[in-house]
Amino acid sequence: MAARTVRRFHRTGTPHTDWCARDHRCGINEHRSADLIAAALGGRAVITRVRAGDTEYAEIRARIPLHSNENAARWQLAAALRLMRHLLDTVAVRPGALRSRTERLALGTARR
Ligand SMILES: [Zn+2]
Repeated sequence: MAARTVRRFHRTGTPHTDWCARDHRCGINEHRSADLIAAALGGRAVITRVRAGDTEYAEIRARIPLHSNENAARWQLAAALRLMRHLLDTVAVRPGALRSRTERLALGTARR
């Protein structure tokens, strides 16, 4: 009878955060918030706050109905990409991005 060797990996988990869902959405080293949902005009966008190891980020998923006309659909995709770039530019972490905790920047008002 051959000996059977099983390698066991042991990973140390990280504690839940104050904001994570504390349920099946969390993994051993990744913590996820409840989904924040915005819906309008048949579209839907979901933002989830995630901490993976030492990195924390916002995960954004969106479902945007596209027009049946190919040119219109391509215009929609181009507009969505342009606005996503603007979103990234607006919310990117920069030193001094927010002067105080109460200051909130709106889209289109990013400080350079
Ligand atoms: Zn968690």
